[in-house]
Amino acid sequence: MTTIIDGKAIAADVRAKIAQAVSTMQSQHNVQPALAVVLVGDDPASHVYVRNKGIATEKAGMKSIEHRLPVGAAEDDVVSLVRELNADDTVDGILVQLPLPEHISSSRVINEIDPDKDVDGLTEVNAGRLILGKEGLVPCTPQGSVIMAKTVRPNLSGLHAVVVGRSILVGKPLSMLLLAENCTVTMAHSRTADLPAVCREADILCAAVGIPRLVKGDWVKKGAIIIDVGINRIEEQGKTRLVGDVDFDAAKENASAITPVPGGVGPMTIACLLRNTVIAAARRRGLGAVDV
Ligand code: NDP
Repeated sequence: MTTIIDGKAIAADVRAKIAQAVSTMQSQHNVQPALAVVLVGDDPASHVYVRNKGIATEKAGMKSIEHRLPVGAAEDDVVSLVRELNADDTVDGILVQLPLPEHISSSRVINEIDPDKDVDGLTEVNAGRLILGKEGLVPCTPQGSVIMAKTVRPNLSGLHAVVVGRSILVGKPLSMLLLAENCTVTMAHSRTADLPAVCREADILCAAVGIPRLVKGDWVKKGAIIIDVGINRIEEQGKTRLVGDVDFDAAKENASAITPVPGGVGPMTIACLLRNTVIAAARRRGLGAVDV
């Protein structure tokens, strides 16, 4: 029997732990963690994401702060706002919603964020800490992917993990996290020779590409764990559907466990953002480790 890894249920568990940790922080230390989100412009999808993050933050008992700037805001204005949030002691996490309007350098703005408040884990400092194995804040989607894999196989040590995709947002940090779990990691990408053969070697196969159903059923080794990060909108039989980077129906015949799309890695991303906010709050305020 193939296990369908239920991202909604796992995310609900993570959120329940976070709410518990927040409640303890409040009762024992009179601290309410706060997440500030900066949104520039009027991209409708970004507005939906920011609203959902705000609702999830408040549901977990944390304070949600939103700063909206007009599409024409100058890069320096966004940088000034980030610096103000860095200096504000009541703010534990800062997230700048991407993409930013084209005239603004995302790299400059992101790297202005205090690394200890960088709950998206996207600053160069946190990327460096991840590679060096130092304590930092880790990007949310890769972290969620590893948490999901560990629900079916708590000890990943010694497994061969193949990560298809080498983006800064997903593929690279995911590879580093799997390496930290003592997996033997292969990073595959658009120039990989014979991708099917590489995938067939995987005990854990992670796909973060953005091509609907790229990974076929016969690319999957018997018993492999599949983490499908892809979210692709396609038209099929007159309907719009969300599908992953893995051909789910065919792959699940060979896999021992697989994440569905939707309902897999997606729900874990916001849960891990909240998790990072609580972790950042505890570290910054010297409250010790939190069990999330
Ligand atoms: P990017 O476009 O930044 O990176 C895609 C990667 O896939 C690149 O490394 C690219 O290789 C590689 N690639 C492209 N074509 C092929 C191919 N034919 N064979 C093998 N590798 C290929 O995407 P992201 O990493 O940002 O996102 C990947 C997917 O994950 C998307 O579907 C996105 O929507 C989804 N996603 C889901 C999230 C969630 O919450 N679940 C969050 C973030 C992303 P190269 O470097 O050689 O160009």
